[in-house]
Amino acid sequence: MTPQPSRTWTRSRALLEKSRQSLAGGVSSPFRAKFPVPLYLTGGRGARISDVDGNEYIDYALAWGPMILGYAHPVIVDAVRRAAEGAHCFGQQHELEIEVAEKICAAVPCAERVAFTSSGSEAVQLALRLARAFTGRPRILKFEGHYHGWMDSTLWSYHPRREQVGPADTPCAVAGSAGQVANAADNLLIAPWNQIDALEAMFTAHGTEIAAVIMEPVLCNSGCLLPSAGYLQAARNLCRQHGALLIFDEVITGFRMALGGAQATYGVTPDIATFGKAVAGGPPLSVIAGRAEILDQMFTGGVAFGGTFNGNPLSLAGAQATLTELARNDGTALTHANQMGRDLMSALRDAARKHNLPLQLTGFGAAFSMHFTKRAELRNYRDTLDDDAVMLQRVLAAALAEGIHLIPDGRLYVSAAHTPADIEQTVANFDRAFSAVAATP
Ligand code: PMP
Repeated sequence: MTPQPSRTWTRSRALLEKSRQSLAGGVSSPFRAKFPVPLYLTGGRGARISDVDGNEYIDYALAWGPMILGYAHPVIVDAVRRAAEGAHCFGQQHELEIEVAEKICAAVPCAERVAFTSSGSEAVQLALRLARAFTGRPRILKFEGHYHGWMDSTLWSYHPRREQVGPADTPCAVAGSAGQVANAADNLLIAPWNQIDALEAMFTAHGTEIAAVIMEPVLCNSGCLLPSAGYLQAARNLCRQHGALLIFDEVITGFRMALGGAQATYGVTPDIATFGKAVAGGPPLSVIAGRAEILDQMFTGGVAFGGTFNGNPLSLAGAQATLTELARNDGTALTHANQMGRDLMSALRDAARKHNLPLQLTGFGAAFSMHFTKRAELRNYRDTLDDDAVMLQRVLAAALAEGIHLIPDGRLYVSAAHTPADIEQTVANFDRAFSAVAATP
């Protein structure tokens, strides 16, 4: 690794101050305004990024997910460059839309039809509208700790504080933002995830009103928690039995856990799924996929949907290149990313044990999370409330000082560009970071 000129982030700090004078908060998403300082980046190549202070990092944030093939992947660079020489936006149809749609339909089990939007938050809004139109029912059941974008209709009970959560079987609906009107939750039901008896009880009480159950099939936004054996299938069965649709929000798991997403991995097919992040390898694109009769309501059932940037040629060029690359050689890119992730998980467990840190790692390789906890098992959001958040922040700060860049909630994304040498280097750097944290009580 190159010498590290400054770990005080002097220039990033100065740029943040300058930025605040014109850009609200100095960041383009408040999620990024994190300790020790929001970094100003200058570039990236493969699994490495660099900042304005001349630091280089092995990156496990992947821009919060999209960079599944790593930074400046030549196939994506080439595809986007070629697209940039043509029209940057058509506002009409073009053939790349068909090519990308066909690739997604071939890869994703639930995808008989797809629609394109620009962000995951938007994709979820369309999925909910389609579900309500299709069933003629008003209510959406969502789970505590799950994130489906920042809109008023979905930003409920994402990360409520312990004193806000309410009863375990019937959690309170807790607004995620100031300025969110209370009646935006009128048509929501909040349930604890990974607990089939609680979901059954919700259906018994409200079954005829529920249009859809929406979930992250792996709870990536609250510590990459895996579904218990049989849970997804049981939820699938309950939805079918009560005439509700099942929506998997695969904005994170899609094109990361497997080419066909979590639905392919677990063999449980939802009625609708949403995708984003990795699908275009960096350029902004999100996708709604699902049964033809549900998505075709946009043409036959009066479901309104729009978006000036939908089907944008630059984003679709990124998607075409990414999906081609991910499918190449029987999908070795994702097999590799997940294997590198599992190797890293196993080595980090050993390193933490060596330093007597109570580290639990949960996830599936290409996305996993660190929890400092005495719990032997983590099944849903409430279990994560016992995590030692202070220790996590100390580890993140120590890791950053060692040249390891992570998402501030302790999540790591591993790309197809991470090599065994990157993993080895990461383990050595974490070993020093763990040692520093263990040495200071
Ligand atoms: N759903 C999930 C599961 C997500 O993780 C995210 C983003 N982190 C979204 C929806 C919203 O996507 P976007 O940020 O592109 O609006």
